[in-house]
Amino acid sequence: MARVSVDLPHHHYEVVIEPGALDALGEHVRAVVPHADCALLGDRSVFEHHGPAARASLEAAGYRVVEHSVVLGESQKTLATAQAFYDVLLDERLERGAPIVALGGGVAGDTVGFVAATYLRGVPFVQCPTTLLAMVDSSVGGKTGVNMPQGKNLVGAFHQPSVVVADPLVLRTLPDRELRCGLAECIKHAVIRDASLLDFIERHAGALLACDADLLAELVHRNVEIKARVVALDERETGVRAHLNLGHTFGHALEVTSGYGVLLHGEAVGLGMIAAVGAAAHMGLCDPALGDRLAAVLQAVGLSVRAPIAGDAELDAAMRLDKKVRDARIRFVLPTALGQVEIRADVPAEAVAAGWRAIRD
Ligand code: NAD
Repeated sequence: MARVSVDLPHHHYEVVIEPGALDALGEHVRAVVPHADCALLGDRSVFEHHGPAARASLEAAGYRVVEHSVVLGESQKTLATAQAFYDVLLDERLERGAPIVALGGGVAGDTVGFVAATYLRGVPFVQCPTTLLAMVDSSVGGKTGVNMPQGKNLVGAFHQPSVVVADPLVLRTLPDRELRCGLAECIKHAVIRDASLLDFIERHAGALLACDADLLAELVHRNVEIKARVVALDERETGVRAHLNLGHTFGHALEVTSGYGVLLHGEAVGLGMIAAVGAAAHMGLCDPALGDRLAAVLQAVGLSVRAPIAGDAELDAAMRLDKKVRDARIRFVLPTALGQVEIRADVPAEAVAAGWRAIRD
Protein backbone atom coordinates (compact mmCIF):
# COMPACT_ATOMS: atom_id res chain seq x y z
CA MET A 1 0.00 0.00 0.00
CA ALA A 2 1.28 3.47 -0.86
CA ARG A 3 0.65 6.42 1.41
CA VAL A 4 1.43 10.03 0.59
CA SER A 5 1.49 12.58 3.41
CA VAL A 6 0.04 16.01 2.86
CA ASP A 7 1.78 18.27 5.35
CA LEU A 8 0.22 21.68 5.87
CA PRO A 9 1.06 24.22 8.58
CA HIS A 10 -2.10 23.43 10.60
CA HIS A 11 -3.17 20.04 9.31
CA HIS A 12 -1.69 16.74 8.21
CA TYR A 13 -3.39 13.88 6.39
CA GLU A 14 -2.62 10.87 4.27
CA VAL A 15 -3.67 9.74 0.85
CA VAL A 16 -3.95 5.95 0.79
CA ILE A 17 -3.51 4.43 -2.67
CA GLU A 18 -4.07 0.73 -3.17
CA PRO A 19 -5.99 -1.60 -5.50
CA GLY A 20 -8.83 -2.89 -3.26
CA ALA A 21 -8.61 0.03 -0.79
CA LEU A 22 -12.39 0.59 -1.06
CA ASP A 23 -12.95 -2.62 0.92
CA ALA A 24 -10.85 -1.14 3.75
CA LEU A 25 -12.48 2.31 3.61
CA GLY A 26 -14.09 1.87 7.04
CA GLU A 27 -10.79 0.98 8.72
CA HIS A 28 -9.06 3.98 7.15
CA VAL A 29 -11.84 6.32 8.30
CA ARG A 30 -11.99 4.84 11.81
CA ALA A 31 -8.23 5.27 12.19
CA VAL A 32 -8.60 9.05 11.88
CA VAL A 33 -12.23 9.88 12.84
CA PRO A 34 -13.68 7.36 15.29
CA HIS A 35 -17.41 8.01 15.91
CA ALA A 36 -20.65 6.03 16.13
CA ASP A 37 -22.05 7.57 12.93
CA CYS A 38 -20.86 8.64 9.52
CA ALA A 39 -22.46 9.92 6.31
CA LEU A 40 -21.76 8.47 2.88
CA LEU A 41 -22.75 11.05 0.26
CA GLY A 42 -22.14 11.39 -3.46
CA ASP A 43 -22.88 10.61 -7.08
CA ARG A 44 -25.75 8.18 -7.74
CA SER A 45 -24.19 6.59 -10.82
CA VAL A 46 -21.04 5.84 -8.82
CA PHE A 47 -23.14 4.46 -5.93
CA GLU A 48 -24.71 1.98 -8.37
CA HIS A 49 -21.27 0.45 -8.93
CA HIS A 50 -19.39 1.07 -5.70
CA GLY A 51 -21.88 2.26 -3.04
CA PRO A 52 -22.58 -1.19 -1.57
CA ALA A 53 -18.85 -1.96 -1.07
CA ALA A 54 -18.21 1.44 0.51
CA ARG A 55 -21.20 1.10 2.84
CA ALA A 56 -20.36 -2.49 3.81
CA SER A 57 -16.82 -1.48 4.69
CA LEU A 58 -17.99 1.47 6.85
CA GLU A 59 -20.53 -0.76 8.62
CA ALA A 60 -17.91 -3.45 9.18
CA ALA A 61 -15.81 -0.80 10.91
CA GLY A 62 -18.70 -0.13 13.29
CA TYR A 63 -20.34 2.99 11.82
CA ARG A 64 -24.07 3.61 11.51
CA VAL A 65 -24.13 4.87 7.92
CA VAL A 66 -26.37 7.72 6.76
CA GLU A 67 -26.31 7.24 2.98
CA HIS A 68 -27.57 9.62 0.33
CA SER A 69 -26.74 9.89 -3.36
CA VAL A 70 -28.07 12.24 -6.02
CA VAL A 71 -27.75 12.45 -9.80
CA LEU A 72 -24.61 14.56 -10.10
CA GLY A 73 -22.93 16.30 -13.00
CA GLU A 74 -21.39 19.71 -13.48
CA SER A 75 -24.89 21.24 -13.76
CA GLN A 76 -25.92 19.74 -10.39
CA LYS A 77 -22.85 21.11 -8.59
CA THR A 78 -25.07 23.72 -6.94
CA LEU A 79 -26.30 25.12 -3.64
CA ALA A 80 -29.58 23.26 -4.27
CA THR A 81 -27.69 19.95 -4.24
CA ALA A 82 -25.84 21.00 -1.09
CA GLN A 83 -29.23 21.81 0.47
CA ALA A 84 -30.49 18.31 -0.37
CA PHE A 85 -27.49 16.85 1.48
CA TYR A 86 -27.93 19.24 4.47
CA ASP A 87 -31.58 18.12 4.76
CA VAL A 88 -30.59 14.46 5.06
CA LEU A 89 -27.87 15.19 7.62
CA LEU A 90 -30.23 17.34 9.72
CA ASP A 91 -33.09 14.81 9.51
CA GLU A 92 -30.67 12.09 10.66
CA ARG A 93 -29.21 14.42 13.34
CA LEU A 94 -25.65 13.75 12.29
CA GLU A 95 -23.41 15.22 15.00
CA ARG A 96 -20.45 17.54 14.63
CA GLY A 97 -17.82 14.85 15.27
CA ALA A 98 -19.17 12.39 12.70
CA PRO A 99 -17.26 12.16 9.41
CA ILE A 100 -18.81 12.82 6.00
CA VAL A 101 -17.42 10.60 3.24
CA ALA A 102 -17.65 11.78 -0.39
CA LEU A 103 -17.90 8.96 -2.93
CA GLY A 104 -17.58 10.00 -6.57
CA GLY A 105 -15.54 12.13 -8.97
CA GLY A 106 -14.51 15.75 -8.63
CA VAL A 107 -18.09 17.00 -8.76
CA ALA A 108 -19.07 14.85 -5.77
CA GLY A 109 -15.85 15.67 -3.89
CA ASP A 110 -16.24 19.43 -4.37
CA THR A 111 -19.96 19.50 -3.52
CA VAL A 112 -19.88 17.10 -0.57
CA GLY A 113 -16.67 18.76 0.63
CA PHE A 114 -18.50 22.09 0.68
CA VAL A 115 -21.30 20.46 2.69
CA ALA A 116 -18.72 19.10 5.16
CA ALA A 117 -17.06 22.53 5.39
CA THR A 118 -20.33 24.27 6.25
CA TYR A 119 -22.65 21.75 7.99
CA LEU A 120 -22.64 22.67 11.72
CA ARG A 121 -19.78 25.09 10.84
CA GLY A 122 -17.60 22.25 9.60
CA VAL A 123 -17.30 18.51 10.26
CA PRO A 124 -14.57 15.94 9.46
CA PHE A 125 -14.39 15.08 5.78
CA VAL A 126 -13.13 12.00 3.92
CA GLN A 127 -12.54 11.81 0.18
CA CYS A 128 -13.09 8.55 -1.67
CA PRO A 129 -12.36 9.64 -5.26
CA THR A 130 -13.62 7.47 -8.14
CA THR A 131 -12.30 9.24 -11.25
CA LEU A 132 -8.63 9.49 -12.19
CA LEU A 133 -8.94 13.29 -12.13
CA ALA A 134 -10.33 13.20 -8.60
CA MET A 135 -7.61 10.80 -7.41
CA VAL A 136 -4.69 12.82 -8.78
CA ASP A 137 -6.07 16.31 -8.40
CA SER A 138 -9.36 17.38 -6.83
CA SER A 139 -9.39 15.10 -3.76
CA VAL A 140 -6.05 16.49 -2.54
CA GLY A 141 -5.65 20.08 -1.45
CA GLY A 142 -8.88 21.03 0.27
CA LYS A 143 -10.62 23.16 -2.34
CA THR A 144 -14.37 22.60 -2.13
CA GLY A 145 -17.25 24.48 -3.67
CA VAL A 146 -20.23 24.75 -5.96
CA ASN A 147 -21.01 26.56 -9.20
CA MET A 148 -23.23 29.64 -9.46
CA PRO A 149 -25.23 30.84 -12.47
CA GLN A 150 -22.46 33.46 -12.90
CA GLY A 151 -19.65 30.92 -13.18
CA LYS A 152 -17.87 27.79 -11.94
CA ASN A 153 -16.65 27.28 -8.36
CA LEU A 154 -17.61 30.80 -7.27
CA VAL A 155 -18.85 29.79 -3.80
CA GLY A 156 -16.72 27.49 -1.70
CA ALA A 157 -14.32 26.94 1.15
CA PHE A 158 -10.94 25.46 1.88
CA HIS A 159 -11.66 22.32 3.92
CA GLN A 160 -8.94 19.70 4.04
CA PRO A 161 -9.93 16.03 4.28
CA SER A 162 -8.96 13.85 7.26
CA VAL A 163 -7.91 11.06 4.88
CA VAL A 164 -8.20 10.30 1.15
CA VAL A 165 -8.78 6.68 0.09
CA ALA A 166 -8.01 6.03 -3.60
CA ASP A 167 -8.70 2.59 -5.04
CA PRO A 168 -7.52 2.30 -8.69
CA LEU A 169 -9.79 -0.75 -9.19
CA VAL A 170 -12.85 1.53 -9.20
CA LEU A 171 -11.52 3.12 -12.38
CA ARG A 172 -12.51 -0.06 -14.27
CA THR A 173 -16.12 1.19 -14.41
CA LEU A 174 -15.15 4.73 -15.46
CA PRO A 175 -15.99 5.64 -19.08
CA ASP A 176 -12.83 5.65 -21.29
CA ARG A 177 -13.29 9.30 -22.19
CA GLU A 178 -13.21 10.26 -18.49
CA LEU A 179 -10.08 8.15 -17.96
CA ARG A 180 -8.35 10.01 -20.80
CA CYS A 181 -9.34 13.34 -19.18
CA GLY A 182 -7.65 12.22 -15.98
CA LEU A 183 -4.56 11.30 -17.98
CA ALA A 184 -4.49 14.87 -19.35
CA GLU A 185 -4.19 16.14 -15.76
CA CYS A 186 -1.39 13.62 -15.09
CA ILE A 187 0.42 14.87 -18.19
CA LYS A 188 -0.03 18.41 -16.84
CA HIS A 189 1.67 17.41 -13.57
CA ALA A 190 4.53 15.89 -15.57
CA VAL A 191 5.01 19.05 -17.63
CA ILE A 192 5.09 21.34 -14.58
CA ARG A 193 7.22 19.18 -12.28
CA ASP A 194 8.50 15.80 -13.53
CA ALA A 195 9.75 15.01 -17.05
CA SER A 196 10.28 11.34 -16.15
CA LEU A 197 6.54 11.01 -15.42
CA LEU A 198 5.92 11.95 -19.05
CA ASP A 199 8.11 9.01 -20.14
CA PHE A 200 6.21 6.70 -17.75
CA ILE A 201 2.83 7.73 -19.18
CA GLU A 202 4.02 7.39 -22.77
CA ARG A 203 5.65 3.98 -22.17
CA HIS A 204 2.60 2.55 -20.41
CA ALA A 205 -0.18 4.39 -22.29
CA GLY A 206 -1.85 1.20 -23.56
CA ALA A 207 -1.77 -0.59 -20.20
CA LEU A 208 -3.00 2.51 -18.35
CA LEU A 209 -5.94 2.86 -20.75
CA ALA A 210 -6.64 -0.85 -20.18
CA CYS A 211 -6.78 -0.11 -16.42
CA ASP A 212 -3.79 -2.16 -15.29
CA ALA A 213 -4.28 -1.80 -11.52
CA ASP A 214 -0.62 -1.74 -10.48
CA LEU A 215 0.36 0.80 -13.12
CA LEU A 216 -2.62 2.99 -12.26
CA ALA A 217 -1.64 2.78 -8.59
CA GLU A 218 1.91 3.91 -9.46
CA LEU A 219 0.53 6.69 -11.68
CA VAL A 220 -1.79 7.95 -8.93
CA HIS A 221 1.02 7.72 -6.36
CA ARG A 222 3.46 9.77 -8.46
CA ASN A 223 0.83 12.39 -9.25
CA VAL A 224 -0.43 12.73 -5.68
CA GLU A 225 3.18 13.27 -4.57
CA ILE A 226 3.43 16.20 -6.98
CA LYS A 227 0.06 17.67 -5.97
CA ALA A 228 0.84 17.22 -2.25
CA ARG A 229 4.19 19.00 -2.59
CA VAL A 230 2.63 21.94 -4.43
CA VAL A 231 -0.24 22.26 -1.92
CA ALA A 232 2.16 22.03 1.05
CA LEU A 233 4.10 25.00 -0.33
CA ASP A 234 1.04 27.10 -1.12
CA GLU A 235 -2.26 25.93 0.37
CA ARG A 236 -4.25 29.06 -0.58
CA GLU A 237 -2.94 29.55 -4.14
CA THR A 238 -1.01 32.74 -3.60
CA GLY A 239 2.03 31.44 -5.50
CA VAL A 240 3.21 28.12 -6.93
CA ARG A 241 -0.18 26.38 -6.63
CA ALA A 242 -1.14 28.45 -9.70
CA HIS A 243 1.32 26.29 -11.69
CA LEU A 244 -1.42 23.63 -11.60
CA ASN A 245 -3.40 25.91 -13.92
CA LEU A 246 -1.12 25.10 -16.88
CA GLY A 247 -3.33 24.83 -19.98
CA HIS A 248 -6.36 26.17 -18.09
CA THR A 249 -6.36 29.76 -19.38
CA PHE A 250 -6.41 28.63 -23.02
CA GLY A 251 -8.50 25.58 -22.08
CA HIS A 252 -11.18 27.59 -20.29
CA ALA A 253 -11.70 29.72 -23.41
CA LEU A 254 -11.92 26.55 -25.54
CA GLU A 255 -14.52 25.02 -23.21
CA VAL A 256 -16.65 28.17 -23.18
CA THR A 257 -16.56 28.83 -26.93
CA SER A 258 -17.02 25.22 -28.06
CA GLY A 259 -20.42 25.00 -26.34
CA TYR A 260 -21.40 23.12 -23.22
CA GLY A 261 -20.36 19.46 -23.21
CA VAL A 262 -18.57 19.43 -26.58
CA LEU A 263 -15.11 19.39 -25.01
CA LEU A 264 -14.64 17.77 -21.62
CA HIS A 265 -12.43 19.69 -19.18
CA GLY A 266 -9.44 17.35 -19.53
CA GLU A 267 -9.68 17.48 -23.32
CA ALA A 268 -9.63 21.28 -23.18
CA VAL A 269 -6.66 21.22 -20.79
CA GLY A 270 -4.76 18.93 -23.21
CA LEU A 271 -5.33 21.37 -26.09
CA GLY A 272 -4.66 24.31 -23.75
CA MET A 273 -1.24 22.91 -22.83
CA ILE A 274 -0.27 22.67 -26.52
CA ALA A 275 -1.41 26.28 -26.96
CA ALA A 276 0.61 27.34 -23.91
CA VAL A 277 3.74 25.72 -25.37
CA GLY A 278 3.00 27.46 -28.70
CA ALA A 279 2.84 30.83 -26.93
CA ALA A 280 5.97 30.10 -24.86
CA ALA A 281 7.92 29.02 -27.96
CA HIS A 282 6.84 32.20 -29.76
CA MET A 283 8.26 34.24 -26.86
CA GLY A 284 11.51 32.26 -26.98
CA LEU A 285 10.85 30.80 -23.52
CA CYS A 286 11.07 27.15 -24.59
CA ASP A 287 12.27 24.91 -27.39
CA PRO A 288 9.45 24.40 -29.96
CA ALA A 289 10.31 20.66 -29.87
CA LEU A 290 8.63 20.57 -26.44
CA GLY A 291 5.30 20.96 -28.26
CA ASP A 292 6.00 17.87 -30.41
CA ARG A 293 6.95 15.84 -27.34
CA LEU A 294 3.82 16.89 -25.47
CA ALA A 295 1.62 16.21 -28.51
CA ALA A 296 3.08 12.70 -28.87
CA VAL A 297 2.19 11.80 -25.27
CA LEU A 298 -1.31 13.31 -25.47
CA GLN A 299 -1.95 11.34 -28.67
CA ALA A 300 -0.57 8.17 -27.08
CA VAL A 301 -3.39 8.32 -24.53
CA GLY A 302 -5.98 9.13 -27.20
CA LEU A 303 -6.33 12.89 -26.68
CA SER A 304 -6.67 15.35 -29.57
CA VAL A 305 -3.95 17.93 -30.15
CA ARG A 306 -5.89 19.91 -32.77
CA ALA A 307 -9.52 20.97 -32.95
CA PRO A 308 -11.86 23.13 -35.04
CA ILE A 309 -11.71 26.08 -32.63
CA ALA A 310 -13.42 29.52 -32.71
CA GLY A 311 -11.81 32.67 -34.11
CA ASP A 312 -9.08 34.49 -32.16
CA ALA A 313 -11.30 37.45 -31.16
CA GLU A 314 -13.97 35.19 -29.65
CA LEU A 315 -11.38 33.05 -27.87
CA ASP A 316 -9.52 36.07 -26.48
CA ALA A 317 -12.80 37.56 -25.18
CA ALA A 318 -13.66 34.26 -23.44
CA MET A 319 -10.19 34.16 -21.90
CA ARG A 320 -10.72 37.59 -20.30
CA LEU A 321 -13.83 36.32 -18.50
CA ASP A 322 -11.83 33.66 -16.63
CA LYS A 323 -12.00 34.33 -12.87
CA LYS A 324 -8.21 33.93 -12.67
CA VAL A 325 -7.72 37.19 -14.60
CA ARG A 326 -6.42 39.79 -12.11
CA ASP A 327 -6.51 43.54 -12.75
CA ALA A 328 -7.52 42.80 -16.34
CA ARG A 329 -4.08 41.21 -16.93
CA ILE A 330 -4.14 37.60 -17.94
CA ARG A 331 -1.58 35.52 -16.08
CA PHE A 332 -0.41 32.58 -18.16
CA VAL A 333 1.40 29.51 -16.92
CA LEU A 334 4.02 28.84 -19.59
CA PRO A 335 6.45 25.90 -19.84
CA THR A 336 10.13 26.82 -20.05
CA ALA A 337 11.38 23.21 -20.22
CA LEU A 338 9.87 19.82 -19.45
CA GLY A 339 9.19 19.84 -15.71
CA GLN A 340 9.38 23.64 -15.37
CA VAL A 341 6.91 26.47 -15.79
CA GLU A 342 6.75 30.22 -15.21
CA ILE A 343 3.82 32.54 -14.55
CA ARG A 344 3.83 35.47 -16.97
CA ALA A 345 1.50 38.46 -17.13
CA ASP A 346 3.33 40.02 -20.11
CA VAL A 347 2.30 37.66 -22.91
CA PRO A 348 1.87 39.68 -26.12
CA ALA A 349 -1.16 39.23 -28.38
CA GLU A 350 1.05 37.68 -31.10
CA ALA A 351 2.17 34.93 -28.71
CA VAL A 352 -1.45 34.17 -27.76
CA ALA A 353 -2.27 34.01 -31.49
CA ALA A 354 0.64 31.59 -31.96
CA GLY A 355 -0.91 29.47 -29.21
CA TRP A 356 -4.26 29.31 -31.00
CA ARG A 357 -2.49 28.51 -34.30
CA ALA A 358 -0.75 25.55 -32.66
CA ILE A 359 -4.07 23.78 -32.07
CA ARG A 360 -6.37 25.11 -34.82
CA ASP A 361 -7.44 22.34 -37.21
P1 NAD B 1 -17.26 14.00 -12.45
O1 NAD B 1 -17.24 13.96 -10.98
O2 NAD B 1 -18.42 14.67 -13.11
O3 NAD B 1 -17.18 12.49 -12.99
C1 NAD B 1 -17.18 12.27 -14.39
C2 NAD B 1 -18.24 11.24 -14.79
O4 NAD B 1 -17.81 9.95 -14.42
C3 NAD B 1 -19.60 11.44 -14.14
O5 NAD B 1 -20.59 11.14 -15.10
C4 NAD B 1 -19.62 10.40 -13.02
O6 NAD B 1 -20.94 9.97 -12.73
C5 NAD B 1 -18.82 9.28 -13.62
N1 NAD B 1 -18.05 8.46 -12.69
C6 NAD B 1 -17.24 8.86 -11.70
N2 NAD B 1 -16.58 7.82 -11.17
C7 NAD B 1 -17.02 6.72 -11.82
C8 NAD B 1 -16.69 5.35 -11.72
N3 NAD B 1 -15.72 4.89 -10.93
N4 NAD B 1 -17.36 4.49 -12.51
C9 NAD B 1 -18.30 4.94 -13.38
N5 NAD B 1 -18.61 6.23 -13.55
C10 NAD B 1 -17.97 7.12 -12.77
O7 NAD B 1 -15.95 14.66 -13.06
P2 NAD B 1 -14.43 14.77 -12.61
O8 NAD B 1 -13.66 14.95 -13.87
O9 NAD B 1 -14.03 13.70 -11.67
O10 NAD B 1 -14.40 16.13 -11.78
C11 NAD B 1 -14.61 17.38 -12.39
C12 NAD B 1 -14.87 18.39 -11.30
O11 NAD B 1 -13.72 18.49 -10.46
C13 NAD B 1 -15.17 19.78 -11.81
O12 NAD B 1 -16.33 20.28 -11.18
C14 NAD B 1 -13.97 20.61 -11.36
O13 NAD B 1 -14.30 21.94 -11.06
C15 NAD B 1 -13.52 19.85 -10.15
N6 NAD B 1 -12.11 20.02 -9.81
C16 NAD B 1 -11.82 20.38 -8.52
C17 NAD B 1 -10.51 20.53 -8.13
C18 NAD B 1 -10.19 20.87 -6.71
O14 NAD B 1 -9.03 21.16 -6.39
N7 NAD B 1 -11.15 20.83 -5.82
C19 NAD B 1 -9.46 20.30 -9.05
C20 NAD B 1 -9.80 19.93 -10.35
C21 NAD B 1 -11.13 19.79 -10.72
